[in-house]
Amino acid sequence: MHLNLQFTIYNLQLIAGPCSAESENQIVETASQLSKMGVEVFRAGIWKPRTHPNSFEGVGEKGLKWLQTVKRDFGMKTAVEVANSAHVEAALNAGIDVLWLGARTTTNPFVVQEIADALKGANIPILVKNPVIPDLELWLGAIERLQNADIQNITAVHRGFGTGGSHYRNNPQWHIPIELKRRLPNIPLICDPSHIAGKKELVGIVAQQAISLNYNGLMVEVHCNPAQAASDAEQQITPAELKILLKNLVFSEENSQNEILSIFRQKIDDLDSSLIEILSQRMNIAQKIGEYKRENAISVLQSSRYDEVLQKCINQAVAKNINPDFLKKIMEIIHEESIKQQL
Ligand code: PEP
Ligand code: MN
Repeated sequence: MHLNLQFTIYNLQLIAGPCSAESENQIVETASQLSKMGVEVFRAGIWKPRTHPNSFEGVGEKGLKWLQTVKRDFGMKTAVEVANSAHVEAALNAGIDVLWLGARTTTNPFVVQEIADALKGANIPILVKNPVIPDLELWLGAIERLQNADIQNITAVHRGFGTGGSHYRNNPQWHIPIELKRRLPNIPLICDPSHIAGKKELVGIVAQQAISLNYNGLMVEVHCNPAQAASDAEQQITPAELKILLKNLVFSEENSQNEILSIFRQKIDDLDSSLIEILSQRMNIAQKIGEYKRENAISVLQSSRYDEVLQKCINQAVAKNINPDFLKKIMEIIHEESIKQQL
């Protein structure tokens, strides 16, 4: 089920607008520039879930009027974030066209359920951002709660995860949305490159990565005067910058016909199968070590031996141009499983 928010030129679902509604002037000016570019869906947060209490928490319901103006004067669809049932009621009463659940909301099943209950019977597209923590099941669960409330038109929004370990503001952890897409192939998946990037210079790079991964669209934070923005000033771009970003996106030809790609894919499949074979051999040896240790009353965990193995692997990885953090994570998982095999 599509949102029907296609951005005509690129066949993308494109949603753009400021992080927050701040003034009628800012809303009208930003929307006017975006509508001239052909953007059809305008976003603006009016209730802002902020980590710290003294940050700007949004203009509240008066922002709904400004969005009604955007709808009336530019014929754009409007989108706001809802974080409780009162927000849902106010947004529906104001005729807002699209609602979204923010990352902090998706993290909390009680609130998602409250929103799903408030939405029952409302025929409105809902966007569900990934939860702040990298828990795919929470994201899937939120979508399921909305589906159970008969919401037909759901889109997943990937905005990255607040786990650190990345030079972006939010770690994209692309494998999580890719797995979501595998589990829910009929739910469109769009990317919010602004909250992943955290810096305006990086928004285009993240957007391109999403397009290369065949995402169905983008939700981008755009402000007529980003330097003056009351929230997320560093990551917002101007409408003119959005235009350039869109122009520079490279769309690939349909991949399935591509022979070169299928040769690479075959190689990957072969290597995956070798990896599994090698892991199986490693686990068999771990079991044998376990038996030997039991017979000779030697303790299972010998940290100094593990430190040595890990350091050796990291040195080898660095020499082979493999990211040492990545290698360390893999070795930790393998080590954990080896210990289980020895118990
Ligand atoms: C937002 O879209 O402005 C927002 C608050 O996003 P998130 O829920 O992804 O932090
Ligand atoms: Mn924001």
